[in-house]
Amino acid sequence: MSRPENDPTAPLIDTSKPHPARMYDWFLGGKDNYPVDEAMGRQMLAVEPNVPVMAKINRAFMHRATRWLSTQGVRQFLDIGTGIPTEPNLHQVAQEAAPATRVVYCDNDPIVLAHAEALLKGTPEGVIDYVQADARNVDTILEHAGKTLDFSEPVALSMIALLHFVSDEDGAYELVRRLTDVLAPGSYMVISQITADFHPEEAREVDKMYKANTLTLAPRTRDQFASFFDGLEIVEPGIVAAEAWHPELGEPVPGTGEIVTPGYVAVGRKP
Ligand code: SAH
Repeated sequence: MSRPENDPTAPLIDTSKPHPARMYDWFLGGKDNYPVDEAMGRQMLAVEPNVPVMAKINRAFMHRATRWLSTQGVRQFLDIGTGIPTEPNLHQVAQEAAPATRVVYCDNDPIVLAHAEALLKGTPEGVIDYVQADARNVDTILEHAGKTLDFSEPVALSMIALLHFVSDEDGAYELVRRLTDVLAPGSYMVISQITADFHPEEAREVDKMYKANTLTLAPRTRDQFASFFDGLEIVEPGIVAAEAWHPELGEPVPGTGEIVTPGYVAVGRKP
């Protein structure tokens, strides 16, 4: 265990096993990771050398989806599974489009809390808050988020690269249903998540690695992914790979132009 920057009040960081938030940070070229995270990251690279570009593609999808939601008039965001801050963060994209946007971030990893300050610096017109909670603690999240967000108005709920860390048995569908139940009509939900549909062999290898490190990984089929959107209308272009979701809305999509992400993304609207 260690504390970031020797700050005695900082949350305890478990450096004895890899953590998804820190591995993701390592793939993105960040500094907030430990040798255990890099070691598992390197193991994953041996199976799938495209992981760093996939992480960038996923991030770029978040930027485009957020920008698109802003153009739809959404001014409130609840982002669960935020990750270690990586600029631009969701609030920076949303508040650039509309400075009065209100954002609540949520993650369960203490390292994200340790860096939450970077997430809390927004525009003077907007409001940003951070909740440390597990995505499955829906009541805690809603109670805290309700201080900043008005759930009688549309909210964009984003769970980007989060739900493959929550298995069905652990309540992935339940948490999505409970969160979407409280959303007002005109609200949106954004999800990206990995699948084993395209490269089942690699997915099995990665699954073994996660299990060996006592981590959960739950790739989902297209149909299972679609089930998250029950009761919502999926907006154009539907369920696609991250690269293919409105590429015209952002900076050039990282990579060679070929679809490399073994995952699905979609944006749904609550009628
Ligand atoms: N959404 C960001 C980060 C994705 S990495 C992006 O797409 O760029 C996944 C994040 O989900 C990590 O920060 C991890 O700590 C968080 N996470 C994983 N399981 C979680 C859970 N059960 N509750 C809350 N956060 C979780």
